[in-house]
Amino acid sequence: MTLINSELIIDPNIFRQNISYIKKKIKNSSKFLAVIKSDAYGHLLENIVSDIDDLVDGYGVVRADEAKKIRKLSKKKILLMQGIYSQDEFLFAKENNLDLVIHNNDQFKIIKNNNNYENLWIKINTGMNRLGFEIDEFKEIYKKYLFDKKFTLMTHLASSNDINSISNREQFKLFNALSDKLNSEVEKSIANTGCIMNFPEQAHDWVRCGIGIYGGYINDSEIQTAMTLRSPIINIRSIKKGEKVGYDGRAVAKDNMKIASIYIGYADGMPVSIKDGTKVIINNQEAEVFGKVSMDLTTVNVSNIDNCKLGDWCEFFSPNLPISNIAKSNDLISYYLMTSIKSRVKKVYKSLK
Ligand SMILES: *Cc1c(COP(=O)(O)O)cnc(C)c1O
Repeated sequence: MTLINSELIIDPNIFRQNISYIKKKIKNSSKFLAVIKSDAYGHLLENIVSDIDDLVDGYGVVRADEAKKIRKLSKKKILLMQGIYSQDEFLFAKENNLDLVIHNNDQFKIIKNNNNYENLWIKINTGMNRLGFEIDEFKEIYKKYLFDKKFTLMTHLASSNDINSISNREQFKLFNALSDKLNSEVEKSIANTGCIMNFPEQAHDWVRCGIGIYGGYINDSEIQTAMTLRSPIINIRSIKKGEKVGYDGRAVAKDNMKIASIYIGYADGMPVSIKDGTKVIINNQEAEVFGKVSMDLTTVNVSNIDNCKLGDWCEFFSPNLPISNIAKSNDLISYYLMTSIKSRVKKVYKSLK
């Protein structure tokens, strides 16, 4: 029995195109860490690794169980981007040959206790105030424990998408002033996708690229959305001018209209905050969301769609309808949309060409 369902179709050919395009922005001497935390931003971690392994120098994740899965598939570097929190986790990391981010003194104590300074990425806070040693704290541990060690110094930008933000310049200045004084073995890493695209000269030894691989980066139309979210029409009705659609009667018909109900709702990961007017594609034509998203349904104005009928697919984002559009027009971010898709949506992972 085939069951009707919403579908998330993932195209790994697009990951490869996006990676190759982004790598052209930076020098060959910068190594490429593919950030595949949170199930590769919803793109099925265990599928993606073998499809991009030849193009990348390593992987970044947050959860130990994800690192373990990747280790079975790749011999390349795997970075636990928020490090470890106990001796057990430290031992797990060693067993699986993981690199560790160390971002505070509690974590560093575990490293000292084990007297094992290999494969460390020391994260400093340059203004984001989330994770990372303060610069003075870092200088202390560098002087005592790290002055002769090979490690990677890293920091993370708060506003990399905004080429004009003064905070980027302040963060670069603090990072570069500090890293210039360290021993010559120390490697450096600042750049996420936004930084690679806006400040490629800050790529240093390692870039940590996530959203660009999946095509959610907002400011470059060469980068393609790798996932398609689509769901079938299960009902079409006509309504008269003045009638309302959906919960709270949010959408009021200004004319006589044709309304399609689509088999997807917030229980599938379509945010309840999606606004009227959000663009979707049905039969290669543009239509608009009309009415508040409910648990299992989304209503769309199909008044101007030719021949639309039950079973036709409604696309919410795809290579033809960038995920950054729906994100932008709804005050969301593509990272959020990608990682919101629920398990009941059918996942279709295409094969490489
Ligand atoms: C998630 C993450 C990245 C990747 O950021 P993108 O904007 O998705 O490229 C890089 N570095 C760190 C520390 C992260 O947590």
